[in-house]
Amino acid sequence: MTILTIESTCDETAAAVIADDGTVLGQCIATQEALHAEFQGVVPEVAARAHVERIMPVIDTALRQSGVRPDTLTAIAVADRPGLAGSLLVGVVAAKTLAVAWDIPLVSINHLHAHLYACQLAADSTVYPCIGLVVSGGHTSLYHCQSALDLDYLGGTIDDAAGEAFDKVAAMLNLGFPGGPAVSKLAAVGDRRAHAFPRSMIHDEHYNFSFSGLKTAVRYCIVGPGKSDFSAVRLTEQEKADLCASFEAAVVDVLVSKSRRAVAAYKTPRLIVGGGVAANPYLREQLQTAADADGFQLVIAPMDLCSDNAVMGAIALEKIKRGEFASLDLDITAGLQRGF
Ligand code: ATP
Ligand code: MG
Ligand code: FE
Repeated sequence: MTILTIESTCDETAAAVIADDGTVLGQCIATQEALHAEFQGVVPEVAARAHVERIMPVIDTALRQSGVRPDTLTAIAVADRPGLAGSLLVGVVAAKTLAVAWDIPLVSINHLHAHLYACQLAADSTVYPCIGLVVSGGHTSLYHCQSALDLDYLGGTIDDAAGEAFDKVAAMLNLGFPGGPAVSKLAAVGDRRAHAFPRSMIHDEHYNFSFSGLKTAVRYCIVGPGKSDFSAVRLTEQEKADLCASFEAAVVDVLVSKSRRAVAAYKTPRLIVGGGVAANPYLREQLQTAADADGFQLVIAPMDLCSDNAVMGAIALEKIKRGEFASLDLDITAGLQRGF
């Protein structure tokens, strides 16, 4: 069994050819970061147009690298939810077209479940049952996972996602886009106790998150309460580092606290963590400290599988094992932050 996986939910166009034991035979990612940098965020129309240009060359590169003949593929799997409508459509239309042309069945991938499956790809044995934390550009969600495909949504952000908050704080400090890596690099040399930023809902029983108040608190700290003009702001590198470190500490405190509480409440032996923000060194370190203290196993997605890629689409192999194929009227489900 060999599958082609396609990922185009946001601003990465990616494809991979994966064997049934999970071996990656070929893969290609075309990132659009440079296209969106001047807007300090992903512009949906720009993303969709770039996907159109890139999707076929990306698929072609992954297939050539693998040496696999398209008509010998077992299935074509595509992330059809959640994400930006225009971006999702490009991947789904490409997958359907090739499925018809090559007479190969389709499999649908939930992008967020795939982010978590990246953890399974890094593990020697099954990571299930577990609590799954997705921390990405559009989502901050906790799941109780019985298997790769049986996930109960426990809660998620009611406003900004963790990654989005990193990107917005980076924009305030003029650190470029995407902001996560730049903020975490500066945070490493900053004082985490310089500013007492809010840890919204940290003591609440539920598993929802909120990061917009934190984002506003950082803004007021930079420009003054009620103000939004950044043009006159002059901060030293150390002041920026202290802001980043204090902001990062607030985000990480909430993520770690809610995750370890979910592990205890559902009595799962482990926590798995995927999505772009899972690449954050301080989050990784603090999660490990919590895992050691509480005695659960921690599996975080490998660094190269944290942000969007098609390799995590290997979750489609689990669906094929269950005989779960999609029909040719497969449609996208766009949107953000709800219980996907
Ligand atoms: P979603 O998966 O919700 O649809 P997405 O696919 O756009 O959103 P990902 O590609 O998983 O999101 O992750 C991108 C996000 O990860 C960006 O917001 C980026 O700033 C953040 N990120 C990347 N590296 C780091 C880091 N070291 N620290 C914090 N955030 C980071
Ligand atoms: Mg991206
Ligand atoms: Fe993603």
